[in-house]
Amino acid sequence: MDLKFKSTVDVTQVQLMGGDHMVVAAAKVATTGTDAMAFANVTSDDNFGLINYLMKHRHGTPFEHGAVTFFVHAPIFVWREWHRHRIGFSYNEESGRYKQLEPCFYLPDRERPMMKVDGWKPGRPKFVRCEDDRTFQVLCDGLKRSYTEAYRIYEENLFLNVDPGLARDCLPVGVYSGCWVTCNPRSLMAFLSLRTCEPEAAKFVSYPLWEIELAARACEKIFAEAYPLTYRAWQENGRVAP
Ligand SMILES: Cc1cc2nc3c(=O)[nH]c(=O)nc-3n(C[C@H](O)[C@H](O)[C@H](O)COP(=O)(O)OP(=O)(O)OC[C@H]3O[C@@H](n4cnc5c(N)ncnc54)[C@H](O)[C@@H]3O)c2cc1C
Repeated sequence: MDLKFKSTVDVTQVQLMGGDHMVVAAAKVATTGTDAMAFANVTSDDNFGLINYLMKHRHGTPFEHGAVTFFVHAPIFVWREWHRHRIGFSYNEESGRYKQLEPCFYLPDRERPMMKVDGWKPGRPKFVRCEDDRTFQVLCDGLKRSYTEAYRIYEENLFLNVDPGLARDCLPVGVYSGCWVTCNPRSLMAFLSLRTCEPEAAKFVSYPLWEIELAARACEKIFAEAYPLTYRAWQENGRVAP
C-alpha cells in the first residue's frame, strides 16, 4: 500500500456545549439557586467582570459546565503526551485491534524548528530552523525508510492472520491515529497552559513539543471563538487555569 506523509496535526470541532453565559449562570447558582439561568445574559459584556473575578481568584468549577469535542488526527507520539491529561478529558481513539491502521506517517515540515540552540537545556528546550538542507534530507529519508519497512512488516503480520493487536507492534510512533477528545473549558485551559509556549503572556512559561503545540493552537482558536469572555479573562490573567 502507498504510504501517506503528513506534517500537520489536524483538529476539527465535533460539538460544542455551553458558552460564557453558562459560566456566569453556574457561578450565580451560589446566590440564586434555581433561578441562576435568569442571570445568563448571553450577549452582555458585563459578564466579563464576574468571569474575570472567577478566573483571577481561581474559582474554577463554574468553568466545568461546558464541553468541546474535537476530532484530532495526530501521530502516536503526540497522543503519548496528550493522554497524560487525565482530569476533565475523555478520549475515544481508533483501534489497532479492530481495524487496519492507515499508512499515514509524520514527516516534519521544512520550517519546523528542530536544531538545538547553543547552550540547549532539557528544562527549557529551544530549537531553531534547520538551515542545512542535507541534515533535513537525511532526517526525512531515514524516517521514510523506517516507516516504509515498518508498514511492510505490519501488512505481512496481518497476512499471518495473527491478532492485529500484535501485528501492529512493529509500527513506529510516527504513525497517525484519530481520536475524539472531549474536555470542559477548565481542563482545556489547563491543557493549553502547558502545551503552548507564550513567553510574553504566560505567567508560567511552558516549552512543549512543537507538534502538540500545533494541536493546542488549533484547540485554542476554537475555544477563543466559543468562549470569548472566558478566553479573554484567561489570557489577561497570565494563561493560568483557574
Ligand atoms: C513541557 C512538558 C514536559 C513534560 N515532560 C515530561 C517528562 O519528561 N516525563 C513525564 O513523565 N511527563 C512529562 N510531562 C507530562 C506532565 O508531567 C503531565 O503529566 C502532563 O503535563 C499533564 O499535566 P497534569 O497532570 O497537570 O494534567 P491532568 O492529569 O489533567 O491533571 C490536572 C490537575 O489535576 C490535579 N491532579 C491530577 N491527578 C492528580 C493526582 N494523582 N494527585 C493530585 N492531583 C492530581 C493536578 O492539580 C493537575 O495539575 C511534560 C509535560 C510538559 C507540558
